[in-house]
Amino acid sequence: MDKITLIIPCYNEEEALPYTYKALLDIAGTMNYVEFEFLLVNNCSEDNTLNIMKKYSQEDSRFRYISFSRNFGKEASMYAGLKHSTGDFTAIIDADLQDPPELLPQMYKSVKEEGFDCAAAYRKNRKGEPFFRSLFAEWFYKLMSRISDCNIMNGARDFRLMSRKVVDAIVSLEESERFSKGIFGWVGFKTKWIPFENIERVAGKTKQGFTSAFTYAFRGIIAFSTKPLLISSVLGVIVSFLAVLFTVFVVTKQIITGEAVPGYPSLVCILLFGFGFTFSLLGIIGQYLAQIYLEIKSRPKYIISEKSE
Ligand code: UDP
Ligand code: MG
Repeated sequence: MDKITLIIPCYNEEEALPYTYKALLDIAGTMNYVEFEFLLVNNCSEDNTLNIMKKYSQEDSRFRYISFSRNFGKEASMYAGLKHSTGDFTAIIDADLQDPPELLPQMYKSVKEEGFDCAAAYRKNRKGEPFFRSLFAEWFYKLMSRISDCNIMNGARDFRLMSRKVVDAIVSLEESERFSKGIFGWVGFKTKWIPFENIERVAGKTKQGFTSAFTYAFRGIIAFSTKPLLISSVLGVIVSFLAVLFTVFVVTKQIITGEAVPGYPSLVCILLFGFGFTFSLLGIIGQYLAQIYLEIKSRPKYIISEKSE
């Protein structure tokens, strides 16, 4: 019998977990032709999440938990889950039922019988999501597929079922600034994409606001593409060229007409533009530098404070 490990990253999920627990037991009942291992990863929740996890693991030996010493973010939860997974197949699923467990039989079938290495779910639409968030997400996916090696499906979630070799490949990428959506694409393998309608979380509140989603996306670009550096250089050359043209114009006018170009306001505009431009380019370089700095320290991606037997 095959074993499927389900990784469930949790941060302050006391309200949603009971629903998820029930849904997971249901799906395990339906898929009685496989063995299940449920790996709950507690990202140092401030609520009752850890106690609930302990209770589940006492009641049902298929439930295991890992608990972090502080909040290391969802990326770290997923990485820890993948490292500790013992199944022949491994799936990642959110704790708020936004990733429908009912897709699992289809995912398993795709990987087991249809020759795929991985089955991943994506949302067909973003019903119920704020307009600007959807818009930015769409731009982000378009930009990402243009400037990086990894094609990310618009609406892709972290919800996916993978064979052992895919899991091993992902774990072998040891970068500490992780951007899993990019990593999944980067490792390659044959992936089946399964669409589903957007579902709102069953209970509790989202941990990812617009700002953190934006930062995450920005980090993703820096982690998977060096094109911004190239674009910066090209823009720098273009602006310098314009500056030379303008200087030639000013000097020529001075020689021919004998009067300096009046233009304190235009000068201020040019200066402001020049400085703003330089600083934004420095900022981009700084981001890469920051990533090198973080990687070179090679700190652990998470620290476990306790786990089940
Ligand atoms: N999560 C986590 N650590 C964090 C933040 C979130 O493990 O620091 C988990 C969270 O419990 C949930 C999943 O990651 O299972 C997705 O989080 P959320 O639903 O808040 O994000 P959204 O679905 O709104 O993007
Ligand atoms: Mg969610």
